[in-house]
Amino acid sequence: MGLIVQKYGGSSIADTQKIMNVAKRIIDTHKEGNQMVVVVSAQGDTTDNLIKMAKEITDNPSSREMDMLLSTGEQISIALLAMAIGELGYKAVSLTGAQVGIKTNSDYSNARIETIDSDRVKRELDDGNIVIVAGFQGVDCEYNITTLGRGGSDTTAVALAVALDADRCEIFTDVDGIYTADPRIVDDARKLSEISYDEMLELASLGARVLHNRSVELAKKYNVRLVVRSSLNNNDGTEVKDMADMEKMVVRGVAHDYDIAQISVVGVPDEPGMAYKLFKMLADENINVDIILQSTARDNTRDISFTVAKSNRDRAISIIEDNLSLLDARSVSYSDGVAKVSIVGAGMVENPGIACMMFEALAEEGINIHMISTSEIKISCLIKADDVEKAMVAIHKKFKLNCE
Ligand code: ASP
Ligand code: MG
Repeated sequence: MGLIVQKYGGSSIADTQKIMNVAKRIIDTHKEGNQMVVVVSAQGDTTDNLIKMAKEITDNPSSREMDMLLSTGEQISIALLAMAIGELGYKAVSLTGAQVGIKTNSDYSNARIETIDSDRVKRELDDGNIVIVAGFQGVDCEYNITTLGRGGSDTTAVALAVALDADRCEIFTDVDGIYTADPRIVDDARKLSEISYDEMLELASLGARVLHNRSVELAKKYNVRLVVRSSLNNNDGTEVKDMADMEKMVVRGVAHDYDIAQISVVGVPDEPGMAYKLFKMLADENINVDIILQSTARDNTRDISFTVAKSNRDRAISIIEDNLSLLDARSVSYSDGVAKVSIVGAGMVENPGIACMMFEALAEEGINIHMISTSEIKISCLIKADDVEKAMVAIHKKFKLNCE
């Protein structure tokens, strides 16, 4: 008998009919002789709506109360799904993060799971229950409810798969798996049958929002068999696994990210310690910086440009403005109309000319590149947001990603 952890996203359980369908799927897998632990997200747009409700009351909600509020979305889902399974004649029990013993740190809205006490889940499984767990939530050492960051239910599922030593962890969503590019933008994007943890990590952090980044980190660390598949059909999906177990590809996929603001600090003195001062202020405020570009010196000054998530733009600007004199810089400005396109592939390191092919694809479309950043398995270009769709199609075609 196997133990399977499944996770269903908010779109898969958005209404009663969908909840009944998911209940049937769960029962089918259970009837094959498997113990089942099922993690669910909040239904449809519930989490967004809860955020809107809070915003109607205050621009600045307490982070503790925010997590208290957002955790309720998942609680609705688990109760309804457990009822649905019961209605179909099978035993199910719903459990919140606290009831499952998911202990996190106290970093509200972005908490990290520290331990899971799997005893309760095991007991319920041994009693013949299908166990339904609220995703995205835990409690800190004082039993304050915490949430794991948007999309965090994936991480709940993988963490449970690790804690319970599950045979596999299946993430059900409304697409068939991981694609070579977003199929809404690139018509002939192809579903990948497999992808490595490292490539998936890059794609996830580059804007492919299918899996929560930390869920992939965890899966990699503990070598969890992770499968992304559709809740609407029985297609195979995409398996996320160790590179050692699969064929290397030069380029596995193209990702895009609109959630980017570019900030430029102009006229920074060309002397040691300036970059340190600038990025230390941002780091101290927990602002993550992505691509960094420094211009060549003229008149003994340089311009330093970098990108941050749009949500951090205003904070970053005001920190720098408050400290312009400390930096001895002339001015700071930002631009919002930018986006990032990236290619990812573990085979890139061994193949020269890959960056050149990407630039060629952009050049042929007359697309200007503002910034470039590379790692062993990815190349990212910052371009105008309006050019993203054209760029994606051109790059996808250049690397023939539509062909197996
Ligand atoms: N409901 C949460 C969100 O919308 C968590 C999740 O869906 O994974 O971000
Ligand atoms: Mg998600």
